[in-house]
Amino acid sequence: MTETIIIAEMNGGVVAPATAELVTAALALGGAPVLVVPCTDGASADAAGFAGVSRVIAAKSPVFSSYDAAAWAEAIDGIAPAGHVVALASSRSKDLAARLAARRGLPVVQDVVSIDGGQLTSPILSGKAMQTVAVDGAAVVTVRANVMAPAAAADADVSVVDASGDLKTAVLEVVARASARLDVAEANIIVSGGRGMGEPGNFRHLEALADTIGAAVGASRAAVDTWDEIPHSMQVGQTGKTVNPNLYIAVGISGAIQHLAGMRSSKYIVAINKDADAPIFKHADYGIVATWEEALPVLSDALAGMMS
Ligand SMILES: Cc1cc2nc3c(=O)[nH]c(=O)nc-3n(C[C@H](O)[C@H](O)[C@H](O)COP(=O)(O)OP(=O)(O)OC[C@H]3O[C@@H](n4cnc5c(N)ncnc54)[C@H](O)[C@@H]3O)c2cc1C
Repeated sequence: MTETIIIAEMNGGVVAPATAELVTAALALGGAPVLVVPCTDGASADAAGFAGVSRVIAAKSPVFSSYDAAAWAEAIDGIAPAGHVVALASSRSKDLAARLAARRGLPVVQDVVSIDGGQLTSPILSGKAMQTVAVDGAAVVTVRANVMAPAAAADADVSVVDASGDLKTAVLEVVARASARLDVAEANIIVSGGRGMGEPGNFRHLEALADTIGAAVGASRAAVDTWDEIPHSMQVGQTGKTVNPNLYIAVGISGAIQHLAGMRSSKYIVAINKDADAPIFKHADYGIVATWEEALPVLSDALAGMMS
């Protein structure tokens, strides 16, 4: 039986939860799923077993200490078996996928949201249309987060393999903003704020709501560009992160096409905007025409009541 290689999504040296969704995608593609965990320490793969995965390869190399596209592609290409390759459609893994496809002479299909045998569907033109392509033979496929049901955890049969890669560039230091908040790219519920929040300090109201319902906090580009306190890591949209939560609450966000590009595939969209003609309402399942100052306390209280 051919094998389907899953590249584990790594977050700070730890296998990210979205990896479980990649297992489901790999099973849909066919072939025996093999999970490759890029790591500097084989122990990172110890808890990386999932139901349906035939084996786990801990690809151990110093190159995996920080992301270097060329070195990662070389190291993974050197140890991963032939077959389909599946990775998460995060900005880093999409980059890696393209490089692996080039190295292996395989087609690459990015941002897949459904797999039906060899038919892969992904949004195109900033989400305005869906494209279905048929792949014949092996391909490199990236899959958006939150579109596949996660596979259950299971015991792993882990083999540690030394992977080498020629490091062309090195990241000397990563200075991360101290934040314990959930990343929007992995969240199932997102509360996002735009320029309509008025000032960055008002994002605390969104954080309070997010804490109540277990959500991540996102932002429009206008908010990120206007206020230094709102980091780019929170930006949702064409030049930010693509998200696919079950619930997206847009607060003081107009709904520009570039913002929609990153969140229009959310299952349910709720918009709070004082302008009844704001474009976001054309895409919202539920719309509240009011200022956030009026609407958020009512919504927060109602949700807090439901959660208690
Ligand atoms: C190449 C390119 C890439 C881009 N990429 C992105 C991207 O990745 N992500 C992104 O978001 N944008 C992106 N943009 C920018 C995009 O075009 C918009 O400018 C941006 O999304 C607008 O952000 P906003 O809705 O927060 O701000 P605004 O357009 O200023 O809208 C603010 C909204 O808040 C409402 N409002 C004001 N006060 C209140 C209040 N008190 N209560 C409730 N509502 C209120 C207003 O009615 C308005 O609808 C990109 C643009 C370009 C050209």
